Amino acid sequence: MYKCISCKKVIDSLDDKVRCPFCGFRIYSKMRPETPRRVVAR
Ligand SMILES: [Zn+2]
Repeated sequence: MYKCISCKKVIDSLDDKVRCPFCGFRIYSKMRPETPRRVVAR
C-alpha cells in the first residue's frame, strides 16, 4: 500500500499508475502492512 504525500490518500496498487489518481502527485510514502503483534501476558 502506498500513501500519496500530497493528498494523503491511500492507493492500493501502483502497478500501472505512476501518478496519484486523485491529485496527480508522483511521490508516495510506502506503508508497511500492519503486522499482527502478539502480546504475551504473564
Ligand atoms: Zn494524491
